[in-house]
Amino acid sequence: MVTAVFWRTLVLPSLLLSTSLAQTDPATSRVNRMTYAEARARIPDRGLPDFWIGDVKGLTSRCERLERGRTAVLGVTPGGRPIHLVTFGDRETVSHHANFNSAIGGQQASAYMDKAARTKPVILFVGPVHGHEVEGLTGLVNLIEIMETGKDLRGRTQTGLQQLGERCRLLIVPAGNPDGTARFEPRALQGMGGDDLRFWGQGTWWDDSFCDWPQCKRRHPMVGRDIHFLGCYFNDAGINPMHDEWFAPMGPEAPAILKVASLEGPDLAVSLHSHGSKPAVLRPAYVPMEVQQDIRSLGEKCYALLAERRLPYGSLFTAGPEGGKSPASFNLTSALYHASGADSFTFESPHGVQGYCQATLEEILDIQLTLYEAMLQHALDKKQ
Ligand SMILES: [Zn+2]
Repeated sequence: MVTAVFWRTLVLPSLLLSTSLAQTDPATSRVNRMTYAEARARIPDRGLPDFWIGDVKGLTSRCERLERGRTAVLGVTPGGRPIHLVTFGDRETVSHHANFNSAIGGQQASAYMDKAARTKPVILFVGPVHGHEVEGLTGLVNLIEIMETGKDLRGRTQTGLQQLGERCRLLIVPAGNPDGTARFEPRALQGMGGDDLRFWGQGTWWDDSFCDWPQCKRRHPMVGRDIHFLGCYFNDAGINPMHDEWFAPMGPEAPAILKVASLEGPDLAVSLHSHGSKPAVLRPAYVPMEVQQDIRSLGEKCYALLAERRLPYGSLFTAGPEGGKSPASFNLTSALYHASGADSFTFESPHGVQGYCQATLEEILDIQLTLYEAMLQHALDKKQ
């Protein structure tokens, strides 16, 4: 989750300073502490369906046995886990004389990469950099399966999506923070509660009080003896790849993703996240208005497709400048544009937590695949 929309009305600002030993806040009925043992005991005893990918276990062997896709390892996390890139479609060689920033300074974006000379659009999908937001991991592994076989992991034929994908070059980083995902024991938050999301997502302090959002971003790296459970936002060294230090990187994940973007020059890029609310295409910050407008128009198309399929969707953002008391951060999505000129955005999927957007596991997968379809179609339409 990167947006305030869901939690702003719910967060208790004084949580970190609370000295109360009470487990439940009387004003909200929300628990304000949770031990690791309690969090584990709350995980439903259920078998998740095979189409649901809530773990990075098995990802390497899955990537290595692809026949149509190609796999590369972009780097290794502090926890020793590989960061995979899966590609479909050949790379087209076009002229490249400058990095993007210099080309823009030279008033000629094509000096960075002559994207117009390519016959196929290039699309970058960045899987969850917040490890517990496995809805994007599930979506991307299903997309890989569709590109390989024409069917998703439910066995459902997805010829339309496969054909759209074949007209593009796809760059897929299925897991953007493998350490965080490996730490996520529930494997799905669907059907669980908002407090479970707070525990697994942002983690807890030494006294088992929640680190919570947005307070969890006020320490970075998230290291120290006062941390009890390290939330899945972070890699094993406490880095949240959404907010790495762009000019002096602290973790390997974000630089690996940005390097792919810089070398490939995608036309369109998404960072896949999840939150409690309905699916949402977020406004990219610190990018030109034209990029914001392009993403808004993609959002319109995505929401129309979701509506057609009787799936939930949120509200459209309004393009605008940065500013105000709490201006947007320059995050990974912003950096993707500045590394590659890609129209980049953040997508928030519902987790399906109780009391908010209660999508089923199947619906969550359909939401992901619908987004991908809208993205491919949008990029292909612009290419004509
Ligand atoms: Zn997130």
